Amino acid sequence: MEHKLGIIGYGYMGSWHHRNISERIEGLDVAAVYDIDPARLAVAKEAGLKTYDTLDAFLADDSFDIVLCATPNNVHKELVVAALDAGKHTISEKPAAMSAEELAEMIAASERNGKLFTAHQNRRWDRDYRMVMETLKAGKIGKPYTIESRVHGQRGAVFGWRADKAAGGGMMLDWGVHLIDQMMYMIDEPVVAVDCHMHSVKSEEVDDYFKLMMRFASGLSAQIEVGTYCLHQLPRWYANGDAGSIRIDDWACNGEIVTANPYSPEWKPEIVQTAAGPTRTMAPRPKETLSVEALPNVDAIADWTCYYRNVMAAIEGREELIVKPAQVMRVIKVMEACFESDKIGRGLKTNI
Ligand code: NAD
Repeated sequence: MEHKLGIIGYGYMGSWHHRNISERIEGLDVAAVYDIDPARLAVAKEAGLKTYDTLDAFLADDSFDIVLCATPNNVHKELVVAALDAGKHTISEKPAAMSAEELAEMIAASERNGKLFTAHQNRRWDRDYRMVMETLKAGKIGKPYTIESRVHGQRGAVFGWRADKAAGGGMMLDWGVHLIDQMMYMIDEPVVAVDCHMHSVKSEEVDDYFKLMMRFASGLSAQIEVGTYCLHQLPRWYANGDAGSIRIDDWACNGEIVTANPYSPEWKPEIVQTAAGPTRTMAPRPKETLSVEALPNVDAIADWTCYYRNVMAAIEGREELIVKPAQVMRVIKVMEACFESDKIGRGLKTNI
């Protein structure tokens, strides 16, 4: 079955979707664009698309059945609800909404119109993330007790509307939504506590750094850190379990898994003279008791095109939708708890 897409907001991401779909997805074509900026409409026209400068005319076009909303975050809700009410299946760029209240209105519009609604949480298909998921699922590091996920930039700059709080700017809504979604999709447990510290280091009004501690129901702690002015780079991922550790340094997926072999019977935990002073607990483990393994190979599935294929299959009733509105709601609720935690200066008990 052929599907056609209409894009609202033909900026950086809107035009990226157009290119990506045209080059890599069979059975889906981009037909039309609506934008409030005449310059972006001119670019879309040049790229061979039908263009509209009013929402009503765009939504009245029945040459496409799916709408993708790729505008700044503060207008997702009104545009997505209008698209659903016009009878279109609708994808919102992330974060789908600015609040749980807005998201509830979008989900209600999807249900009353019987049309699919989802968010573009494409980073569920990232290679580094899939490697961590695969490692945990295979039990390679045993029972995990701590997982760190971070993205660090060095430029200290947040650009355009992302520096504007009212437009939905800031790093929590920009990168936080991806990293929290990844963590919650991987750990299938309620989030029972949230403690978030936010900073505006180089920005006037939005968070350009945050550190979040989440506790899951089993006690597992997850740390998520996003910074735009971190001049030393720390690992993208670092997780410890009761049988080993995984580290992924960067987007190129350099890293390794280290597991521990049982001590030989003759080994005694003696005090060792180290640079830290004499210590038994913090002295390095004998090398022969450690095994170093390469990260799993997940090339075949780490592909953002899986996202659209799943949306089309879900519309046709062939597959279950992967990015479910109820999951998107949980992530938005965690982000709301983060803003509240930062405001009141302490952690919150949650049941999300
Ligand atoms: P952008 O500023 O480059 O583009 C936004 C476009 O929306 C512009 O062309 C603007 O004219 C248009 N627009 C603004 N208000 C509008 C309205 N009311 N009606 C119609 N058009 C309107 O921004 P961007 O970087 O493309 O980000 C857009 C969305 O995509 C954001 O939600 C962002 O979080 C998301 N995004 C997602 C990813 C990802 O990996 N999933 C990456 C980048 C951006």
